Amino acid sequence: MTTEKTKVVPQKLSREAYHALESVVGKEWVTEDRVMIEAYVINTDDAGASLRVLKRDPRMRAAAVVLAGSTEEVQGVVRVANRYGFPIVTVGNMQLASAPVLPGTVMLSLRRMDKLWVDEENMRITIQPFIDYGKVHHEAAKRGLWLGGSGWHGAIAKPCSQYVTYGLWQSDLKYSGLARNAVGLTMVEADGSVLKIGSSAVAGTDEVPFTERFPGPNLHGMMKGSFGGTRGIVTEITLKLHPWVGGQPFPEDRGRPSIEHYFEEAKEKKFDRAPTHPGHKIFWFEYPDLASMCEGTRELARSGIGIAINMTGDFNASMCSYTIADANERSKGYFHFSGYMVVAGFTSEKQLAYEEKVLRRIVDETGGKLWSEEYKPELLDAVSPWNVEYILNTETGMRTIRSNYISHILPPYSTFEQPLDTAEIWRELCKEYGVPGEERGEFHSRMPGECPYGYIGDRGHQMMTELDQFPERTSEKELLTWINSLVYLQMALLEKGYPGLFTVDVGEPWMTTVPEIGPDSYIVMRHMQKVVDPKGVIAPRRSVYSGDEFKELLKHPGTMIRQIMAMRDRFGLPKLEVAAEEDRWKPVE
Ligand SMILES: Cc1cc2nc3c(=O)[nH]c(=O)nc-3n(C[C@H](O)[C@H](O)[C@H](O)COP(=O)(O)OP(=O)(O)OC[C@H]3O[C@@H](n4cnc5c(N)ncnc54)[C@H](O)[C@@H]3O)c2cc1C
Repeated sequence: MTTEKTKVVPQKLSREAYHALESVVGKEWVTEDRVMIEAYVINTDDAGASLRVLKRDPRMRAAAVVLAGSTEEVQGVVRVANRYGFPIVTVGNMQLASAPVLPGTVMLSLRRMDKLWVDEENMRITIQPFIDYGKVHHEAAKRGLWLGGSGWHGAIAKPCSQYVTYGLWQSDLKYSGLARNAVGLTMVEADGSVLKIGSSAVAGTDEVPFTERFPGPNLHGMMKGSFGGTRGIVTEITLKLHPWVGGQPFPEDRGRPSIEHYFEEAKEKKFDRAPTHPGHKIFWFEYPDLASMCEGTRELARSGIGIAINMTGDFNASMCSYTIADANERSKGYFHFSGYMVVAGFTSEKQLAYEEKVLRRIVDETGGKLWSEEYKPELLDAVSPWNVEYILNTETGMRTIRSNYISHILPPYSTFEQPLDTAEIWRELCKEYGVPGEERGEFHSRMPGECPYGYIGDRGHQMMTELDQFPERTSEKELLTWINSLVYLQMALLEKGYPGLFTVDVGEPWMTTVPEIGPDSYIVMRHMQKVVDPKGVIAPRRSVYSGDEFKELLKHPGTMIRQIMAMRDRFGLPKLEVAAEEDRWKPVE
C-alpha cells in the first residue's frame, strides 16, 4: 500500500517582482526552475531544517534563486525585495542557518562574487563572499602570508559568511583567525544602501581598511553573530594577514585536488601521511583524565608558546580515519583524553626548539604524556592525517561529514572547567534521550560524554567546548533526539551558571523564550532590528522576532517553543508571563 504524500508547492513571486529581479542581474542569473530550487534545499548543519524537509514544509522551497555578481547587484536585489515585499536569504554553500523561514523567500546566492585582492606590502587581503578558506590560505601562502587561523570546517567555508556566524576556533590561539583579523567590511543594508565599517569609514583614511577601530561605536560587533546577516549582507571583507613559515606544500589550490595532479598523488599516497608543514611541529598529548587535561591545556595555552591548541579525544576518530568503519570503531574510546598543540618557528629554528622545551616541561609537570615513536606510536600514526589539516584544514576538510554531522552544540566561551561540566551534562542527556546513531552501529554521538572537543583561543584566556550529535537526516526519531538534547543542554548549562547560548543557536526561538540570555538582550536585538531592517527583508525571524511576530507566535507556538517552555518548568526556571506591552515576556518571581 502506498501512502499519499502531499505535493510540496513553493510559493511563487509575482511576475512583476520576478521581472524586476531579471532587470537587476540579467535573465540568466535568476531562476524559479524547480530543479534549481531543489538544489537550494541543502542544510549541512541544521537539524531543524532537516526536520522541516522531512515534514514537507513548503517554506523550505524558495520562490526563486538569484545570483548577484557585484555589490551593486546585491543592492538592486535588496531594493526589489523592499519594493515587492519578499524576504531574502543570502547563501554561500549553505552549511549553516541558511534555510528559509517564510514562504516566498528568494535565495540570494553570491557564488558569482569570487574576486580577491592581496595587498602584500600591508599584509592584508580583501575578498568577496564566494572566496573560501582554501583560496585565502593558498593565495596568502604563495606570498609568505597566512590568515592566522581557521575553523574546523572544510576548505569551502567562506570568511564573509562565517564572520556573521562568528568565525573562530581551530587554530585561534595566537593569531586568532576571524576573531581578530577582520579589519573592515563592505555591507549592503536592508534598505539597499552600502555601509563600510572599519577604518575606511573615516574620511581621509585609506580606501581599504587597516584596522577595525574607528571613532564611535565599533559596528563590527553588531555584525558578528548576526546569523544570516540579519544586520546586513557582507559583500567584501578585508582580513589582516600574518607571516607564514610553512612553505608551499601543495601543488594546486588547497582543498581542490586538481585532476592534473590527483591520480599520480593518490597512487603515491603522498598526502595520506604527509609530514607537517616546514617551520611547524605538532605535538599530541594525553592525560589520565579530563580534569588533568583541563589543567594541562590551561598551562600550555597561557605559557605564550604555540599557535594552536585543542582537546580532541575521540573526535580524532572522525578527523583522521580513512573509512567510516575505522572512524566508528575508534570513536569508542580509542584516543581517550588527548589533544594537540602546534608550535611554529616564525623567528628562527631556535624558537621551535625553545617552544618544544617549554611544552615538554609543562606536559610533564601537569601529569601528561606525549605520543611518540616510543609511547603509543600507533596513536601517533592514527592521527598523522592531521599533520597538514590542523592549520589550514583544507585538504579534505572535516572528515566527520562522512557520518551525518548535521548538528553541533557550542556552549559559551568560558573557563577551563567547562569540559568537566559539559561532559557530565552530556552523559545525563545520553541516558535520558538516547544516542543518535547507536542503533545503526555509530558511536560518535556519545563521545562528548567522555571528552568534549575543546577549542582554546584568546591566548588561553578562554575555552569553548563542542558537543556533537550525528543524527541521520532522514530519521525523524534521531532529529527529535537532537532537538530534545539541545533544549536540555541549554537549560542545564544555564542552571550551572553559564551565560546561556553563544553561537549556533542564538536567535529565534531562543531569544524570546529564554530571556535569561541577556537578560532582555532580545529587546535590544529587537530595537536593533527595527533600525537596520524595519521591513524584515533579510532572513526575517532568524535573529529575533519583531513585537508583532512575537504576538503571532503566542497564538501558534511551534514544537520547539513548547519544548523550551516544558524544559523551563522541569529545570525550575521562572514561569514566563506576557508583560503589559503584550509583545514580550516577563519572568514571574
Ligand atoms: C562540519 C562543519 C564544521 C564547522 N566548523 C566551524 C568552526 O570551527 N568555526 C566556525 O566559526 N564555523 C564553523 N562552521 C561553520 C561554517 O564555517 C560557516 O557556517 C561558514 O559560513 C560556511 O560557509 P558557507 O559559504 O557555506 O555559508 P552558508 O552556510 O551559506 O551561510 C552561513 C550563514 O551566513 C549567511 N550568509 C551567507 N553569506 C552571507 C553574506 N555574504 N553576508 C551575510 N550573511 C551571509 C547565511 O544566510 C547563513 O546564515 C562549520 C560548519 C560545518 C558544516
